Amino acid sequence: MSLAQPLPTPKVVVFDLDYTLLRPSDQFEAPGYVRTGARFGLALDPARWPQAERAAYGAAAARREATGLVHDDGLLPVIAHAIIDGLGGGPAAAVEKAVQAIIVAWSRAENFGLYEDVLPCLDALKAAGIRMALLSNALGHGVEEIVAHFALDDYMAAAVSSLETGAVKPAPRMFSTLFGLLGVAPADAVMVGDSVEDDVKGAVACGCPAILLDRAGRRRDVTVPRIEGLAELPAALGL
Ligand SMILES: [Mg+2]
Repeated sequence: MSLAQPLPTPKVVVFDLDYTLLRPSDQFEAPGYVRTGARFGLALDPARWPQAERAAYGAAAARREATGLVHDDGLLPVIAHAIIDGLGGGPAAAVEKAVQAIIVAWSRAENFGLYEDVLPCLDALKAAGIRMALLSNALGHGVEEIVAHFALDDYMAAAVSSLETGAVKPAPRMFSTLFGLLGVAPADAVMVGDSVEDDVKGAVACGCPAILLDRAGRRRDVTVPRIEGLAELPAALGL
């Protein structure tokens, strides 16, 4: 599927990183949590993954409610705790060790890959003369490390992370910092990301059109421009 009507072709496409270009390995899904827990004597139940994931979303939302839209290194442990507890938990000391192990794993670029539709899409945009940039909430891994690990320098004209700005998407400062670096008006760019709140609504509030990347097809309810894979992006931008 694709957009009923393509957006005007932008000068710049801004990509979110996690779950948009970067695919976390199964280390961060039920199998990985079960393996990690087992190292510390925890018998986590993979069948409880859906509830654990919902608990983690809830815990993350509550944490952000409390902290505001600031870069928050404490968010990752809150998420890992919620998932491990949601999968059955165990003695506090063992849970804490498993949480720390997950955080270390999330900090390593080796535990991520690019989705297979990423490079063909970046090549198509580059061939069309469109500049590209990254805008990431940088939870637990640095944008520069990811750019270096995956050799994205060839594609990205700029990268801004919450580590530098101190704010997180959807805060306007994230978007204005990037557009300032690029020297373009928000209306001349398109934001592409997997989060309705952070990527799409954040960009639109700043005057930048946005497309939701809904890889799992879970957000067919939303009315914002939406694609289910990056192979659809060039056409969605009128290319
Ligand atoms: Mg994301």
